[in-house]
Amino acid sequence: MPLFPFCLGEGLATPGGAKPNDLLAGTSCGEPMRLTFLGTAGSWPTKERSASAIALDTEKELVLLDCGEGTQRQFFQSSASFMRVRRVFLTHFHGDHFLGLPGLIQSMCLNNRTEPLDIYGPPDAEEMVGRALQMGYFTLRFPVTVHKLSAGTTVELDGYSVTTAAAIHPVPSLAYRVEEGPKRGRFDGGKARSLGIQGRDFAKLEAGDPVRVGTTVVNPSDVMGPPRSGRSVVYSGDTAPSEEVRRLAHRATVLIHEATVAQDLEAQANEWGHSSARQAAELANAAEVSTMFLTHFSARYKELEPLESEARILFPGSLAARDLLDHLIHQP
Ligand SMILES: [Zn+2]
Ligand SMILES: [Zn+2]
Repeated sequence: MPLFPFCLGEGLATPGGAKPNDLLAGTSCGEPMRLTFLGTAGSWPTKERSASAIALDTEKELVLLDCGEGTQRQFFQSSASFMRVRRVFLTHFHGDHFLGLPGLIQSMCLNNRTEPLDIYGPPDAEEMVGRALQMGYFTLRFPVTVHKLSAGTTVELDGYSVTTAAAIHPVPSLAYRVEEGPKRGRFDGGKARSLGIQGRDFAKLEAGDPVRVGTTVVNPSDVMGPPRSGRSVVYSGDTAPSEEVRRLAHRATVLIHEATVAQDLEAQANEWGHSSARQAAELANAAEVSTMFLTHFSARYKELEPLESEARILFPGSLAARDLLDHLIHQP
């Protein structure tokens, strides 16, 4: 008999990438999305780098991408609060990507959390998370739901969606694309004025209501540009260069790609299901992303500039992520 309100989620995931039209409504606010790199180490943490974890504040809620050992302590040093984490997306069940979960959840209990937590991962998520949550003596006091995802699935959430692709790694592994719903077009104030709009009618039109000017009705569509696509963040997790990940990353605002090694160790890394900085850049270039962060660095690299330089040859928008680095993603 389960000792805690831990359950399995079915029915939230829908195949394909179609977004319901209602996502378009109410998504015009312009707060930046915030990425916080909590851990950028490869399999072994170092003094400078903690195990893999990335917090993404989507404007609606805080999402955690992987949860390596030490994640909760990294939260304390960052601008993000671990109590705000609403969902955790795990790429795979190598220890450096999920061993922070039991500690994080136990601390949430100690802080009297009552809000539910949803955890997503590859098909083995149910077994692995179930085991992790039964370690030690503690009572889970809030609902935790585990969702098993397969590659090519889209989960629709509050104002954003998450789509998966298969990574190339020795164990079941997923890459994730977190994407906002489409945004309303830009309001053209000059055009509104030329149509005779004045005073409070600007706000009315901007809110989506038609306005009467004399005998003429001005509709929002007369003064708004076409809908804009939302911001997107793609996280590769651990992977050798993958065509599926490239497709998932197509024109993403930010790609976070693993770069375990430099080019000279590429062949060996690929054998173990990892990529070089050069290969990450090649993929970023082919996927036409705007910015790429490299992460998951082998402990053999104390300095990251050589990896960053290697990537910039093929993709100038490459940056090596550092622990506790914040990156704001503004509305285009
Ligand atoms: Zn790893
Ligand atoms: Zn791994």
